[in-house]
Amino acid sequence: MVWKITDETFETITEEVILSIDGISLRAPQGQSLLMAARHHGFDIPTLCHHSDLPSEGNCRLCLVEIGEHPRTRLVNSCTYPVEAGLLVQTASEKVLQGRRMVLELLLARCPKAKIVQDLAAQMGIYESRFKTDDPEELCILCGLCVRACREVVGVSAISMAHRTPGKLVATPFLEAAEACIGCGSCAFICPTGVIPYTEKDGVRTIWGRDFPLQPCNVCGNFIAPTAQLEHWAKITGDPVEHYFVCKDCR
Ligand code: SF4
Repeated sequence: MVWKITDETFETITEEVILSIDGISLRAPQGQSLLMAARHHGFDIPTLCHHSDLPSEGNCRLCLVEIGEHPRTRLVNSCTYPVEAGLLVQTASEKVLQGRRMVLELLLARCPKAKIVQDLAAQMGIYESRFKTDDPEELCILCGLCVRACREVVGVSAISMAHRTPGKLVATPFLEAAEACIGCGSCAFICPTGVIPYTEKDGVRTIWGRDFPLQPCNVCGNFIAPTAQLEHWAKITGDPVEHYFVCKDCR
């Protein structure tokens, strides 16, 4: 299930309900994700695929929590499970910690060199995985943040998830230079493992197999952003593109 309510929009949900997190009764807006409700009240739940500006998809499964009453409890992704009145939630039960260790071992097997995965695993005392590593150089944890940022925030869908597991990967259409890409770099900035190659040299940004000339500010001459990105903003806002050819310091 994709829970479409982001952290920003939950404010529109006004009805608050009472639920219990780790034995503490508290109020939270009905429909808000358990992750946001728990974090709002100071509970620490790790996640690698959550971003406050994007709808949650529960891809990394690190944020799992246990819901229900003993013995009928189950693990759910807290980022996609909505707050309900009377819900009993545990964020650090033995069942949760076991599940989270398993997820971290799987992530570590997939991306043994990903620093963020190593750090999270080490916090739980895990330094190696019992599962097989297919590619020791792999750094993509398939969290989907880059794809969602490109689609939901930038609005161009230049990249997507291609193929099925085990060959699943983030890719441009037909694995060719991304035609729809505007060179904004949102995917590279949001990527938790820094795996998306991105360079800037001599006024040119290179990403996803394409070179994007950077637009100099019409006043100070400093580079602002790729011209294609500024043209994209102008198209969305309806402002004259020249408006974006002056950097914010010179406006
Ligand atoms: S490239 Fe980065 S942001 Fe995209 S799915 Fe892989 S790890 Fe996540």
